[in-house]
Amino acid sequence: ILETVGLRKSYGAHEVLKGLDLSLDRGEVVALIGPSGSGKSTFIRCLNMLEMPTGGTLRFRQKEVHPGFRDKGEQIGIGTLRRHVGMVFQHFNLFPHKTVLQNVTEGPITVCKTPRKEAEERAMHLLGQVGLSEKHAAYPNHLSGGQKQRVAIARALAMQPEALLLDEVTSALDPELVGEVLAVIRKLAEDGMTMAIVTHEMAFAADVANRVLFLDQGVIAEEGSPDQVILNPQNPRLQGFVARFH
Ligand code: ATP
Ligand code: MG
Repeated sequence: ILETVGLRKSYGAHEVLKGLDLSLDRGEVVALIGPSGSGKSTFIRCLNMLEMPTGGTLRFRQKEVHPGFRDKGEQIGIGTLRRHVGMVFQHFNLFPHKTVLQNVTEGPITVCKTPRKEAEERAMHLLGQVGLSEKHAAYPNHLSGGQKQRVAIARALAMQPEALLLDEVTSALDPELVGEVLAVIRKLAEDGMTMAIVTHEMAFAADVANRVLFLDQGVIAEEGSPDQVILNPQNPRLQGFVARFH
């Protein structure tokens, strides 16, 4: 459903992504791991063009994505791409002056023109799925980090995305709150949601991902099943990286 071919990204003279090939199929969960600065965030942000690639191709539903907002002939625009590919960030990025329910209904009402009542019904259903029905009237400041992140996931799901991109969604959380967020993501994976997940949680990646990519210095240095990449790494730098988490 999402595919990159030779994707590159430079900041000035600094080439951060050096030609990455990824294909994310429907229902698949791909975990991206790698050292700090290896380009994981840059790559996942390129997948919905929050960062503009400086080379290579991005395809969505087998159509090339071009950097303009609107679809153009056979090409998909950024508007359509972002409408169907959701993103969840490390720092939640909730609207602080809106309630939990308003955070979740905002996108459907303003972007999709969903009637308010229908949007609210769907939002309450999603809040139930992430275990937060009783918090629908609360403001984000009054929630724990884990609760905020579960609202952020519900908000992304409210757009009925075809794929979800998650960038270290548990890294800002206190350790005791990590589990509740990972449980929500694990459930999404079981329900068949297509996801690309940047994570430092090796056990979680091994458990939830169909495929693991090790990014190192802007290239995919190793790729395979969790068993291959995390439990039986070949690349010496990957061996060192994985060993630090045991
Ligand atoms: P971490 O695990 O610390 O989150 P990462 O793998 O996500 O790291 P990126 O954030 O993608 O790494 O950064 C990759 C490289 O790109 C780094 O060297 C970083 O300094 C550089 N970089 C990222 N964003 C920018 C920017 N806006 N301008 C210039 N350089 C940038
Ligand atoms: Mg990052």
